[in-house]
Amino acid sequence: MKDKLNKIEAAALQSAAEVVSEAELQQVRARYLGRKGEITAVMKGMGQLSAEERPLVGALANEVKDRLEAAFVERQKELRNQAMQQKLASERLDVTLPGRKHRRGSKHPITQVTEEIVAIFAALGFGVAEGPEIEKDFYNFEALNIPKDHPARDMQDTFYVSEDVVLRTHTSPVQIRTMLQQQPPVRVVAPGTVYRRDSDITHSPMFHQIEGFLVDRTVTFGDLKGILTTFVTEFFGQNTAVRFRPSFFPFTEPSAEVDIQCVICGGSGCRVCGQSGWLEILGSGMIDPEVFKSVGYDPELYSGFAFGMGIERIAMLKYGVNDLRLFFENDLRFLKQF
Ligand SMILES: [Zn+2]
Repeated sequence: MKDKLNKIEAAALQSAAEVVSEAELQQVRARYLGRKGEITAVMKGMGQLSAEERPLVGALANEVKDRLEAAFVERQKELRNQAMQQKLASERLDVTLPGRKHRRGSKHPITQVTEEIVAIFAALGFGVAEGPEIEKDFYNFEALNIPKDHPARDMQDTFYVSEDVVLRTHTSPVQIRTMLQQQPPVRVVAPGTVYRRDSDITHSPMFHQIEGFLVDRTVTFGDLKGILTTFVTEFFGQNTAVRFRPSFFPFTEPSAEVDIQCVICGGSGCRVCGQSGWLEILGSGMIDPEVFKSVGYDPELYSGFAFGMGIERIAMLKYGVNDLRLFFENDLRFLKQF
């Protein structure tokens, strides 16, 4: 009987060691110590033992029972502890891990150049004006002294929305809208998107211009030269040579194109400047009295100048970009360089 109890104890301890959950341990406990368990059965069977054997086996059975109870309690603690450790491990949060990176965008080079140009003119006292990109013929052409038969109105160049409505071909209509709303003195720059039916390495059907004008009582061509020379040297560098070349625009008289010394070859002549050593960067001139008449300014009282330039062209020259289409392809390898 003593052997049997020892075997039962050993088997019970073995089973308890092998279980992996508290539920399984409960089953083991029931198998040995429950009402129909093996130890219980031994104790129930003691009635058949002799009077000498009975107290010895009874004492031994109680000892085994106590030891198993204690072993099961201990094992239960172990299992609980293991379960807790597993839970902690699976829910572990490592606060020292590096965070997930958010990619930060940056301003498009055209936007950057536009802002730079606007900032230079703002420092010279110019405000900023904007206007619609879908424009009436009157603002885009008529009021700018561009009559119906002028080549600039050619169907080849202009996107017509209807007979009387176009996608603006330049930012000049903003001048007209501003002058119709405001009496002199005015000094304003107007950056914006413009549209022409043109597409190659130096032309895009959608591109950007910045236009500016200044009107007051005694504005002279000297003011035009002073302001534009200041702009060029601020933007391209203090040592940039500038020249003014006579030209023609329907809305200015006299008109001048502004060249800078070639930024690529420094004036000695290269492919970019067509061996001339000069690069044309903007058009300008004294505002034609006909334009003043169409906006109700008195040409006897006021004079002024206007200028305009293509922002892509300026950006290409400043950063040495040789294909205008790069600005619109959204290739991050290109855009990240700015
Ligand atoms: Zn050159």
